[in-house]
Amino acid sequence: MESFLPTALLDSLKEVKGFDEQAFIQAHTSSHSIVSVRLNPTKSFDLAHSNLQITDPVPWNTHGYYLAQRPSFTLDPFFHAGAYYVQEASSMFLEQALVQTCDLSRPLRVLDLCAAPGGKSTLIQSLICAESVLVCNEVIKTRVNVLTENMTKWGGINTVVTHNDPKDFQQLSDFFDVMVVDAPCSGSGLFRKDSAAMDEWSEQLVTICSQRQQRILADALPALKPGGILIYSTCSFSEAENESIVDWLTAEAGVESISLQIKEDWHITVTASPQYNAAGYRFYPNAVRGEGFFLAAFRKPFSVETNSFSAVKNKFDTLSKAEQSIVDGWVKKAPGHCFVKWQKDILLFNLALQQVVSILQSCLYIKSAGINIGTLMRDEFIPSHGLAMSGLTHENIPVVSLNEEAALNYLRRVDLLIDTATKGWTLIRFYGLALGFAKILPNRINNYYPKEWRIINK
Ligand code: SAM
Repeated sequence: MESFLPTALLDSLKEVKGFDEQAFIQAHTSSHSIVSVRLNPTKSFDLAHSNLQITDPVPWNTHGYYLAQRPSFTLDPFFHAGAYYVQEASSMFLEQALVQTCDLSRPLRVLDLCAAPGGKSTLIQSLICAESVLVCNEVIKTRVNVLTENMTKWGGINTVVTHNDPKDFQQLSDFFDVMVVDAPCSGSGLFRKDSAAMDEWSEQLVTICSQRQQRILADALPALKPGGILIYSTCSFSEAENESIVDWLTAEAGVESISLQIKEDWHITVTASPQYNAAGYRFYPNAVRGEGFFLAAFRKPFSVETNSFSAVKNKFDTLSKAEQSIVDGWVKKAPGHCFVKWQKDILLFNLALQQVVSILQSCLYIKSAGINIGTLMRDEFIPSHGLAMSGLTHENIPVVSLNEEAALNYLRRVDLLIDTATKGWTLIRFYGLALGFAKILPNRINNYYPKEWRIINK
């Protein structure tokens, strides 16, 4: 069959397990696109009010679903409420790797090293327990904002977003229980979704990516505890970025491969790395209902020496009694939750986060931590969008529910015309889920939806 796919890629895959050239080309020729979402278990909503047409579950993920077609996510208020994340189905397999290798009921420190825009981070956040902490890191400055936006909308209290180079994590040696490295790659697995990736692909790019993947792993691995779990993934089909990296990790870092249980009808190909026979999981788009993906799981060997980190004094201020009583009226606090002041902002932490952030502060650039609940300007509290998204707004705060048209106008940040007797700061909701805050004044309504996240031109 004639193909528009790079010949060098097809040639390089000929001997790779599970590769079926004709079926692979056919899958890239078909115009049928697969759309899937992962629901946020903390933000349930009535599908009847959304434009998601769910067909069936993604078999390897508890909250993943395929859709009949691609709706306009931008015009769905539930999307902006953080009720779901639009995620490619194959990459939702990360759930299996985590569930099968970790005791997720235990408090864990988890690092998602290459995290933007936040697909894997939101998945991890939904799986770990409240006493665990997730550090979502992104090295590229222009991508940190979208990661922060997606994590804020997801609403979990136990996350930290950092903006650091992988080697900065070396200062945290033996710190994390789990490290997820969803590495930058040559992107051949996404050719069906992103034709620009095909234009950029070359054998040279594969080599560059493979070298970069080794560098990222070598830089960050000291931060994983002995006995800790490493999950490595790419959206590339190339062996140089997958099984060869698995061999390199085994040889250079001494990590031990972990095999995962998979069901036959998932049609995932299990590979063995050429040198060490270490397990890898390949997703071919002609075999699975998803795009190209590769994942491998490892355990870092136990060694005698491990570092312990004593909590250093953190750089946060505590709230005065008067400030505390103001914010108490805004937030539904749970046991172990506490407020701290960070520059102008007031943050809500749980106990696990307090300990971890005080250590991270000494060596990382923290972009956000916990829930940013708002600021105090003289005696007025200005609530943040993060508070609305967290679902922790105090029940005494007035609520106005909008229909779809008004909700979209709110999300466009245009002036609102709402007929309500409510006055002052108000939580804006759409069918039970918070969209943000507005301040209702006698003669107008101030829309506090974050300017940079508003819907533009739709
Ligand atoms: N995990 C993300 C998700 O599921 O939404 C996708 C991550 S994407 C495959 C790889 C990420 O690595 C990108 O956000 C990219 O900016 C970042 N990256 C690029 N170069 C890097 C480097 N040298 N070190 C660490 N991360 C890098």
